[in-house]
Amino acid sequence: MSEKIEVLTSLKSWKEYGEITLRMAGIPDYKVDAWLLMEYVCNINKSYYYLHMDRPMDKSDAIEYQKLIDRRSRHVPLQYLTREAWFYDQPFLVNEAVLIPRQDTETLVEESLKYLKPHNSVLDLCTGSGCVILTLIRHASVIGTGSDVSEEALTVAMENANRQKVNNCAFILSDLFDKINGTYDMITANPPYIPTKDIKGLMREVSEHEPILALDGHEDGLYFYRKIADEARGYLKSGGRLVMEIGYDQPDLVKDILFQNGYRDIKIIRDLAGLPRVMSARWS
Ligand code: GLN
Repeated sequence: MSEKIEVLTSLKSWKEYGEITLRMAGIPDYKVDAWLLMEYVCNINKSYYYLHMDRPMDKSDAIEYQKLIDRRSRHVPLQYLTREAWFYDQPFLVNEAVLIPRQDTETLVEESLKYLKPHNSVLDLCTGSGCVILTLIRHASVIGTGSDVSEEALTVAMENANRQKVNNCAFILSDLFDKINGTYDMITANPPYIPTKDIKGLMREVSEHEPILALDGHEDGLYFYRKIADEARGYLKSGGRLVMEIGYDQPDLVKDILFQNGYRDIKIIRDLAGLPRVMSARWS
């Protein structure tokens, strides 16, 4: 018994405890995650760890570390535990109210940046953590509006705006265009696009912990593309662009929706994995 307590005092033994617990829970990157949680809880870096790994962990840190390892072993995404996710070039605050920004979504940002000029107006629907609109504002000096149907999500987006010192982004609580006024040079969106029946089959991290509101694209996953393509026509300036993230298997279906609604110059953009990930179209 005393031996066990002894074993579980040093940073090294706690890291081993974290790794074993996560490995047994089937977490693929168990070593990385056990380390990142230790880095977060103890506020140490790798060189500190290697110099001091035989030192005991503070008692309060040990309690917190155990708690977070336990939550991670129940497949809570690491980013919800450390409350941070990197997107493009910045860390974003995240919590269970917002989708964790994906690298895939950087393709949406890259495509949008190709068209934007300083002082253009951009509306970002389903803004979530605000990662898309805040990145566009910082990189293209546009006038931005982020909207979301979730008040909790907007609280996160506003906190991210504060942290990144973006003070010219408007945030509007709105179910798509319900509370939106005016016209925009560009509308961006990463809407929910997973068909309802497919959500259960996603990784547990996603299906059990990320907000269903941000994932569920209704029966065929295309509900929001139909609605946005139709309604955005009333909010885009002539020649303005609609740029949306899509599921890799949806490009032809979304292209049809855009074409039928009168959009032209419809482009499919692939992500870093080579999969169709973004649709971009001109409204004229
Ligand atoms: N890309 C996300 C996923 O694979 C889904 C994002 C969305 O529905 N907008 O889980």
